[in-house]
Amino acid sequence: MADLFCVRIGETMRSKFAEHIKQYAYGEALLVLPNRFLLQSEQQKGMVRAVNMDYLPNEILRANKRDRFAMLSRRSQEIIVRKLIDDKKNAGELRYLLNIADADSFAKIVTGFIGELSRAGTTAEEFADALSAWERKNCYGLKDEEISSIYNDYRKILKKNNWYDIDGLYRLATIELQRPDSIIPWQALFFSDFYQFDHLQLEFIAAIKDKCKVSIGIVGDLKNDELYGATLNTISDLVGRGFELHKVDTLIDRKEELQHFCLYWKDNKCVYEKNVENIRVFEATSSENEMRTVLEDIKREIYDGTNYEEILLVVRNLDSYNGLRNLFDEYGIPSTLPKITSFLAQPMVELINNLLNLAKNDYDVNIFCDLLCCNFAKLLYDFDGEKVTELRTKLYFPNSEQLKKYLNSNGYTIEANNDIGKLLNWAANLPAYAKTDEYCPLLRDLIKDWHLAERFGQYYKQGNLSLEELKNILLTEKICYEVLDEIEKVYKESKEAEKKIQIDDFSNIWREIASEKDVILENGNPQGVCVLEAANVQGIYYKHIYIMGLRENEFPSLKQENWLYNDNERNDLKMLGIDLKSSGSALLEDQFFFASSIAAATQSLTLSYYVDDEASASGYLNELKQYYKENSLQALTNKKDISDCWSEEQYVEKLCGLQGLAEKERNWLAERVGKDYEIRSSLDKVRFVKNSPYQGCLGNESKKKIRKSMGEYYSPSALELYASCPFKFMVSKVWQTAAWQEVSDETEAVDQGDLYHIVLARFFNRYLGKNISSEETSILESKLQEIFHSVCEEFLLLGKLKKTDFLDAELQQIWTKLLRVLTAEIAYQKDLSASRRNLLPAFVEWGFGTNKTGHAFFREIDGEKAYFIGRIDRIDVDEENLFITDYKRTKGPGKKDFEIGLDMQMPLYVLAAEEFFANDSRTLLGGGYFSIEAAQRKNGYWRKEAEFLPWLKKGSENWQAFLEKAEDNLASCVQGIRAANYYTEPKMQCPSYCPGIDICRYSLVSELQEEGSETDD
Ligand code: SF4
Repeated sequence: MADLFCVRIGETMRSKFAEHIKQYAYGEALLVLPNRFLLQSEQQKGMVRAVNMDYLPNEILRANKRDRFAMLSRRSQEIIVRKLIDDKKNAGELRYLLNIADADSFAKIVTGFIGELSRAGTTAEEFADALSAWERKNCYGLKDEEISSIYNDYRKILKKNNWYDIDGLYRLATIELQRPDSIIPWQALFFSDFYQFDHLQLEFIAAIKDKCKVSIGIVGDLKNDELYGATLNTISDLVGRGFELHKVDTLIDRKEELQHFCLYWKDNKCVYEKNVENIRVFEATSSENEMRTVLEDIKREIYDGTNYEEILLVVRNLDSYNGLRNLFDEYGIPSTLPKITSFLAQPMVELINNLLNLAKNDYDVNIFCDLLCCNFAKLLYDFDGEKVTELRTKLYFPNSEQLKKYLNSNGYTIEANNDIGKLLNWAANLPAYAKTDEYCPLLRDLIKDWHLAERFGQYYKQGNLSLEELKNILLTEKICYEVLDEIEKVYKESKEAEKKIQIDDFSNIWREIASEKDVILENGNPQGVCVLEAANVQGIYYKHIYIMGLRENEFPSLKQENWLYNDNERNDLKMLGIDLKSSGSALLEDQFFFASSIAAATQSLTLSYYVDDEASASGYLNELKQYYKENSLQALTNKKDISDCWSEEQYVEKLCGLQGLAEKERNWLAERVGKDYEIRSSLDKVRFVKNSPYQGCLGNESKKKIRKSMGEYYSPSALELYASCPFKFMVSKVWQTAAWQEVSDETEAVDQGDLYHIVLARFFNRYLGKNISSEETSILESKLQEIFHSVCEEFLLLGKLKKTDFLDAELQQIWTKLLRVLTAEIAYQKDLSASRRNLLPAFVEWGFGTNKTGHAFFREIDGEKAYFIGRIDRIDVDEENLFITDYKRTKGPGKKDFEIGLDMQMPLYVLAAEEFFANDSRTLLGGGYFSIEAAQRKNGYWRKEAEFLPWLKKGSENWQAFLEKAEDNLASCVQGIRAANYYTEPKMQCPSYCPGIDICRYSLVSELQEEGSETDD
């Protein structure tokens, strides 16, 4: 009554079983298959009755009138588990799991684990017994106790409510089968192409075999566990449950080298010594390039007479091939892949999500703006959200109320009586707590009220919308209703429909169900090239097989360890009789999928992958090469040959890359892609040519205009900008482009820097010529505080400081730093006077460069005057010496920055001071930076004579050389700016906030990683 047929890899018992089934009356014998693809293909043939495995227990319960139980969906199970966890948490029963109990994903993970236990045939009592035998202590013992109690309560709830989950379905049917008078609706069952059964399914099969004839065909061989590791346990279990084992050694016809794989893979490293003609390997440079290479080859194959139905394209996971269907369309190849797009990514769904977010938190200005700026709101109500976005780059709004007020008083209409106002009202009126069957109708009514079919149908008629867009909107609307129906159903099913939930929970369940939906824009073509995931290939044959994605981490696809019970814990549980899957068993399955995909090919096999910085070819491929003559599976790369072009888009692309086209081709291209195609097609090369305008070297014509508009005044910040990267200078100073960015609630670094500078300047202005170390510290502090407060007031009025919740804390930080600067300054002045030097602040904010300052400072560079402007923070003097101080918010530049021409500020100040104090009897000792962050003097440029300064270790041996280098640095910057040479040459790593980052070519041609580094004031 029970036979187990073990076949070789790539073989199947399905057709033999079908022959047997035909001997029974239709429906008395069933062919049981593991996946939808096999089911559909057998159903299409119509010769035998084919079903999936879950059909059997359902049918047995129905035939025996035991269907008073209600089946729970997976989501309803999650809701029950969520409630259990919440109840236990509220009752103080969770200690180990307490911190993660509220996480959204936690209920899912526990539900998954409960399912694993069920499928392993472990009852709640058995699990509890095993855990108590394990005797784990401390936190692990607590975890075991808490999980066991959740599992136990979950089972009780199911029993009490006459519910069963998918695992319980098998358990109930098995119990039913064990009754002597139970009815079996079939005489024989034939299971084919499964690679394993879980514990409950095995129990079920063992019970059913006592009632009817059962035959199972499975790939495997009890003796060879490396090749058949995935099926080994199932075969042993079936034999242990009384199945008679039959070894079937047949092989279907395949090309010799493909048969070689089936005969020797993992069994005997026998090398195929002949030339390999029917296995090819393609290496590509990117995912798209790989898909194109494969599709071009498929099209070539079809052109040579192969039928679409003779080709199978296999991937490990279809989710990794988003654009595949579009590429099939581009190449004009029909395929079984449907044309789908993500439901969650639809603009209408984005609008709904924004509305739910706003209902949760209507005070948040970002959420409010997301709603106003969302594309679907614009489509529905023609509301221009971009203006709002632009407004936020200019003004700071701490909350949505203030933004609303501003909008209403500045001509933006978002009143309650217009469309956008009604939408905002809808969100405002959504209850914070409600039952799901209160939330769902509200959302349904809102969508109905949009009258999408009429509104967008009209747009389509007017030519403002394509048919595809219209279809997309209407399908999305339909799926919205489906999601809402599903929410109501799972809450009813789990008897939670009466419970009021928070808007946040409603929004989560909406999003969760929505994330599993796709909008199917077009069904696949069953007569097209078949595309399957590798897990579904066992038992089918195709003349030509393509396997894409043979790349590390893709195929093999490694599963992450389960963190609730990891692999080590699972091994321990196995010793205690609880057999749960580990990540190692997932790897065995993956190996099986690879082998069955290859063995499915009868005439030719094409393997492909792409290589980039993250991954290279799959280990499977390297192993495969060992079975074939050396160098016979060398990877081929796609050559750009114009005569070998298989889609119009590719033809256009390749044609555009060619020189000297005939007139016919030129005309065709001009018509197809525009008259300027020649310039556009040359751009890719030209933009990488050194010193081209695309590299920022703008040439003579622009040079004149730029000089005229920029004038001949150079600030240290402009010079430093040019020195740090000429291209960045062009974007910031010539184009005057700034990154589009909202005004943030934090004080800008530049405004903070200004605040420090102004406070310190005003403070020292009161103490010019005075040694503050001899003053009362408390008086100094209160003076500083007074100045600080008055500057803060000014900054608040100017909007440089914003009244946010963080302002007080931020000001407190700034004040602390100012106090530390004051303390450090007192100490410096004390040290100086101790060494009998009386150098004290004499000038603050000392400006030069323009006639207005009275200190015009210029140089003749290439015969033309260049004026330099600047403002020295502080100059300290005594009878013999003077020196310069520049405050830096963080740390100042070092000597290395000067050497590479990056530090222009202090050298410029020194040159200017040298000139203006040239007739003074005092000596300029040099200049240094004062770091506010570190509250100390750091770095600078000093003469040897300055070594008496208490903070200075060593002055310059050759002051003249420093001055000359400073002059050279100035001159070369000015020459570069004047010549309009704005090439990309960053002297340090490109900062992530560089305004040129999105347009400059630097990252394309350089190895340098973009990594932000803070520039100073
Ligand atoms: S990203 Fe780098 S190379 Fe490009 S402009 Fe900015 S600093 Fe220069």
